[in-house]
Amino acid sequence: MSGKWYWGDTHLHTTGSDGALRLYELIAKAKKNSLDWIIVTDHNFNSIEKSYSSEGLTVIQGQEITVEAGHVNIWGAKVPAEPPYDIPDEKAYADIMEKCRNAGATVCLNHPFCSQCGFRIPIDNLPADCVEVWNTIQHSDNVRNLNWWVNQLKQGRHIAAVGGSDFHRDQVKRVDMMAMPTTVTHAESNTPEAILKALREGRSVITCKPETSMIYLSVDGALPGDTVPLSASLKGSCKATKLLPGFELKIFNNDSMVYSHKAKFFEKVHTAEFSITQPGFVRAEIDVKLASPVKKIFGAAESKYLAPRCETPPETADELFWAFTNPVWIEE
Ligand SMILES: [Zn+2]
Ligand SMILES: [Zn+2]
Repeated sequence: MSGKWYWGDTHLHTTGSDGALRLYELIAKAKKNSLDWIIVTDHNFNSIEKSYSSEGLTVIQGQEITVEAGHVNIWGAKVPAEPPYDIPDEKAYADIMEKCRNAGATVCLNHPFCSQCGFRIPIDNLPADCVEVWNTIQHSDNVRNLNWWVNQLKQGRHIAAVGGSDFHRDQVKRVDMMAMPTTVTHAESNTPEAILKALREGRSVITCKPETSMIYLSVDGALPGDTVPLSASLKGSCKATKLLPGFELKIFNNDSMVYSHKAKFFEKVHTAEFSITQPGFVRAEIDVKLASPVKKIFGAAESKYLAPRCETPPETADELFWAFTNPVWIEE
């Protein structure tokens, strides 16, 4: 497939809702982050009337439907309803999501297992194109999002993973929280339509920041989002960049790990070759294990920041992901 990789952020707030930056300040920050595209998703409000381009940066119209039942991003078209939204249950959510899709929008389940504002309704049957597996600075809730998503893939559901920084302001001193994480899409061009199509079709890789690791996964020339037929000698290859000591690259064919490599020192590029034997999917992930002192500090931070609004503080994960790809689908 022709096309190029474009670096972006699917989930950003401005003063149009509860963000700290005005739209022009957000755009300046996105350019400083060398992003190719951003989606502005204020709570229950469209801060921009229409998607547009500004000196190479594509600014896509969006809105985050924000109700007690859960949060959903609506990209590329307006919500065909006026807030305050009355979305008390699963049926009402499915209904409005379907209406948005019929209006041409791309629809994403946001931070589904967030301990503070995750979904309060069942989500398995909601008509979503995408799911935000990685929301904001990495933490244990995202591991639960990933587990749910992988389970959906195993059932054969083509639901695309994305990352979104959910940027409101730089809360952590000296840390630029925009594009943390970054969603890197393989699209035909950097138009709003092409970027949204690539997001829907799972032609993306999610990574911690624009300048960190990238994973280039391919199976017989096919990229994430593509489908290839299974054959007796089907081979895949993967190039993972900027592995820090301790980072582990893992490649899965469904449940089976078909390749793994733990970096002992900094590796600018690590190349992997592997065989595929099962119909289903192939995906790659870079993980970081939390050594027990780090886990302790991390756990303390999580119980401070995540616990106040939920009954049981989430259990801190032993391992967090640093980057991951959407799947290449393997057809029988
Ligand atoms: Zn939200
Ligand atoms: Zn948000």
